[in-house]
Amino acid sequence: MEDRQEAGRVLKQYFGYDHFRPGQGEVIAQLLAGRDVLSVMPTGAGKSLCFQVPALCLPGVTLVVSPLISLMKDQVGALVQAGVPAAYINSSLSERQNAQVLQNARQGRYRLIYVAPERLDTPAFADFAQTAEISLLAVDEAHCISQWGQDFRPSYRGIATFAAALPRRPVIGAFTATATPEVRQDIALQLALQDPFAMVTGFDRQNLFFEVQAPQNKKEALLRFVAEHKQESGIVYCTTRANVEQVCALLCQQGIPATRYHAGLDAEERQQNQEAFSYGQAPVMVATNAFGMGIDKADVRYVVHFNMPKDIESYYQEAGRAGRDGDAAHCLLLYSGSDIMTAKFLIEKKNEEEPDPALASARVEADLKRLNVMARYCQTTGCLRQYILRYFGEDAAPCGCCGNCRQQFTELDVTEDAQKILSCVARTNQRFGAAMICDILHGANTERIQRMGLTSLSTYGLLAAMPRADVMERIRFLEDADALRRTEGEYPVLQLGPGARAVLFEGARLCMKVKEKPKAGTGRTRREKTARAGEEVTNPTLFEEMKALRTQLAKENQVPAYFIFSDRTLRELSAAVPHTMEALLDVPGIGQSKQQKFGQRFLEVIEAWQPPKA
Ligand code: ADP
Ligand code: MG
Ligand code: ZN
Repeated sequence: MEDRQEAGRVLKQYFGYDHFRPGQGEVIAQLLAGRDVLSVMPTGAGKSLCFQVPALCLPGVTLVVSPLISLMKDQVGALVQAGVPAAYINSSLSERQNAQVLQNARQGRYRLIYVAPERLDTPAFADFAQTAEISLLAVDEAHCISQWGQDFRPSYRGIATFAAALPRRPVIGAFTATATPEVRQDIALQLALQDPFAMVTGFDRQNLFFEVQAPQNKKEALLRFVAEHKQESGIVYCTTRANVEQVCALLCQQGIPATRYHAGLDAEERQQNQEAFSYGQAPVMVATNAFGMGIDKADVRYVVHFNMPKDIESYYQEAGRAGRDGDAAHCLLLYSGSDIMTAKFLIEKKNEEEPDPALASARVEADLKRLNVMARYCQTTGCLRQYILRYFGEDAAPCGCCGNCRQQFTELDVTEDAQKILSCVARTNQRFGAAMICDILHGANTERIQRMGLTSLSTYGLLAAMPRADVMERIRFLEDADALRRTEGEYPVLQLGPGARAVLFEGARLCMKVKEKPKAGTGRTRREKTARAGEEVTNPTLFEEMKALRTQLAKENQVPAYFIFSDRTLRELSAAVPHTMEALLDVPGIGQSKQQKFGQRFLEVIEAWQPPKA
């Protein structure tokens, strides 16, 4: 009970929040009571506070193991701004700087130290750890410890050894956003958690708007989208470095302030570009998945996937970087069939490195299965949010407000098309993949078709009048309806499924839901208005003036604008119009540290502001 009060006080004083979010309070209480915790909460749910608040309540120091330098830098930067003594130790610092941090740490100067996993077993760090009072060991992005997870990092395996060698075992908290039940178990096992308190909060992120498009021309679709989101910060993810280069160049040509990030750039440029993005000079970031695990930028308003990612875990984690501040944000996936080929190629390449062939093929199989689930997400006409939540084991009703829920569908009788497709599969002895079946029905004149003498088939060219994409759509629909089955493996072929018979021979009718083409312009605006309802700005002129001040303060302090105050906090401020330092503390997002640092300046703007005459 006392613990909870203390935690609440810390939350208010350092972070300026009045309430814990779902799950936070329990996790913190358990850690403070000395129990290990395994916490699975979606991106943006607020996992950091779950170890930062206990760190400020417990004696001694909290070690935070974190996989990425950018992640540490961001979090430590934000903590220091909030008045919390914290530091990090990793390879971005010189050995001298790292030694300095350790020296300060020995004197008990920090409440939190972020450390890269590879550092744990260096002699200097191990030596420090032997004498330090380590109350809590927090493992962020804990799924990295499991080779069944999507981001396995061998260096994470050393954490348990490190903990076991300490003179006194600290409480251990493990945190991740994406873990299926098997990965969860593996985390607990690998970290040797003792009777951990498991906190799995809902995965739903209500402020995210999910949408999938399969445009003829992705570049045009992207440009249109970005143009509709001018002035907003966003991330565009591409699968390959080459795509990143192209897309970034395209945006820049159109005068959009974009920058790029991928593993092919040298460390210095990566850092520069990331900062340009964080600090707002380049509000649009085009990147491979190398970018992001550490991106704490809270005001990212959209995440566009220019290519389909390899699995739902990756997608939800990447898309989840939008809207961490809780405001509405848009997650758009631009899909095309060729994305599947690229993803398969990458899966094979990745698993080639595994020396054990049995393990390699088990991994390929698991990866292909996940890829398949991802592809289905792109093709479903059902609720996108529900699809994702069910994947993570959460039951959910259709949300009513994702791209698919808002899409108008018409029912189309496709029985005859279905019969043609199924006959074609049967006549060619169920040995071709979807692309070939599509070619045959379409009457394509390819070398392969000529060579195999397929032009004489009775089904050749039966659907010549239909665009290829529509034939593909029907094939997918027939898979969903169990009339077709796709074999697994490297070269999947289409076979008749249990539902084929009824359509071919028993007169069953099949109706398919098809998207109505949205009328130009109108669909989106309506959607966006609804998504943003509740974010009305009460005094827009004051809001704008405070935004300008925020930009100014960000420059003066050399931090990103959202380190000062989030958009939400500015909205609360312009609604509350506080006139005293005291009253500032009642505004969510303003703690003592920020009140002291920035309060006076904001009060000045408020005093000078004239409400417009009605
Ligand atoms: P995660 O690590 O779970 O992805 P973060 O810890 O980065 O999420 O938190 C995401 C955002 O939510 C941050 O901007 C943080 O300040 C904010 N936040 C966390 N807890 C609260 C809270 N109790 N009230 C309001 N905002 C919060
Ligand atoms: Mg986090
Ligand atoms: Zn929905």
